[in-house]
Amino acid sequence: MVPGARLVILGKQGAGKGTQCTRLARHYVVPHISTGDMLRSAARSGTEFGQRAKEYMDAGELVPDEVMIGLVRERLDYDDTAQRGFILDGFPRNTYQAEQLSHILAPRDIDMAIDVEVDTRIVLERLASRRVCQVCGTNYSVETPPKLEWTCDHCGGEVVQREDDQPEAIRRRLALYEEQTAPLIAWYQDRGKLVTVDGFGRPDEVAGRLVKAIDSRRMS
Ligand code: AMP
Repeated sequence: MVPGARLVILGKQGAGKGTQCTRLARHYVVPHISTGDMLRSAARSGTEFGQRAKEYMDAGELVPDEVMIGLVRERLDYDDTAQRGFILDGFPRNTYQAEQLSHILAPRDIDMAIDVEVDTRIVLERLASRRVCQVCGTNYSVETPPKLEWTCDHCGGEVVQREDDQPEAIRRRLALYEEQTAPLIAWYQDRGKLVTVDGFGRPDEVAGRLVKAIDSRRMS
């Protein structure tokens, strides 16, 4: 294993990106940069920016591009990413954001964009049963709840259903994914950066597939 990597993770909501990114970040010893987590943390802090972001998120809408690009540019400026790399989760969300990301990173672009493929029927089931810790963001589900009531095993925070995992917001988010984010797959393919991994199966299986695909691509 060679530590350090510059990765973008793509995939529908509910494809298991968050869980897999946490593992990949540990494996490659790089920061996991989740724009959704950054926005949720801003929303919890109750700042004016956070409140505005929350309105977009709760409705399943995308936060304006310029806001997101500014947020990511600032985060990628930290030393940890310059030295070790990063796993970007939730960004870019459309081809404009992808172009801007390339500008921010120039002259050294990402190593690869990984599309975690999962059938829509499965992501709908996963999103409907997903529960998340309000404090640290750990994911649970109705089938795999925390040990004690709905209290997070890691930090003791309250485990709830995300506002944007309600049926209406799920429909909107998946529609936006098809319209705006799915074209990114072809965009990265055209630039020779795309790696596709089957996201169906137990988290351990999917993680194994991801590491194999990433390492074989890095060796080639
Ligand atoms: P996620 O956890 O990645 O599903 O993101 C949750 C919500 O945060 C999304 O539904 C959007 O409202 C917002 N969001 C996250 N990343 C972006 C982005 N790159 N561009 C616009 N909105 C974003």
